[in-house]
Amino acid sequence: MLNEFKPEVAIILRSDETIKKFNLKRVTINTSFGPVHRCYIGHIYDVPVLIIYGRFNSEKVPSSQINFQQTIEAVKNSGANKLIGTFVVGGINPEMSQGSVYVLKDLVGAGNYNIAWNQNISFHNAEMYEPFCSSLTKQLCEASRKMDFPVKEDAIYVSFYGYPRIETKAELDFYNKMGWDIVGQTCDPEATLARLNQLCYAGVAVQIDDPKGRSKYISNLKSNQEAKAYVEDIKTCRERTTKIILQFLKDYKKYNCDICSKMSRKNKNFREFPDDFYE
Ligand SMILES: [Zn+2]
Repeated sequence: MLNEFKPEVAIILRSDETIKKFNLKRVTINTSFGPVHRCYIGHIYDVPVLIIYGRFNSEKVPSSQINFQQTIEAVKNSGANKLIGTFVVGGINPEMSQGSVYVLKDLVGAGNYNIAWNQNISFHNAEMYEPFCSSLTKQLCEASRKMDFPVKEDAIYVSFYGYPRIETKAELDFYNKMGWDIVGQTCDPEATLARLNQLCYAGVAVQIDDPKGRSKYISNLKSNQEAKAYVEDIKTCRERTTKIILQFLKDYKKYNCDICSKMSRKNKNFREFPDDFYE
């Protein structure tokens, strides 16, 4: 599909600077859901990559309407078998300020999402005991240790999904009590779909707000003071996750993962009822 170009790693990343700096070429990848136009290919520090410019097709929609299956199918059709998601997330822990950066270790599904399953393909639940590829995550952690800002490893991402709103104070207090780090709306079902498609998957995230900032903003509104936006510039935040990705690619060590491709709960022997009973 990509004229002999086989990406080693696919990355979901909105970084205009990276696309320009490394002269990546825009391509269209076809899928059963229609073409994906926001794909860029080329080499970043000798690594053949596919960059997918975010998760939205042409316009922004609520997360429940994002076609995650289409993006994953584009990655699969490109020939890449490793995928990194980059995320802009909400903060949970009052001790972690906006702009904090994380490498993901685990996730909690706090939403009610589902995906359309093609009934011509036999069904199985994804094995998600360890949702992220340990080899890919290890390389991301190594890259993040070279940053000039702190990066929290082993982060737990709560996937709060499907409502067009962000979290209430009570929800954040609960998540914090549970020891979860960050909350967002896109890491799952992306992670589940990556697993169902035998991709190695890992993630880095940057926190765009924090509970203290959100609270202060509302207090200021109440006291009629001029409310200053509590979110750090999204571009400055994204620069941090992009920096980790570029370091990761600079140091990238090619590997074959025997684990993610085999982590499957497929039951090939499923029958509606035993064959003998047909008689
Ligand atoms: Zn893997």
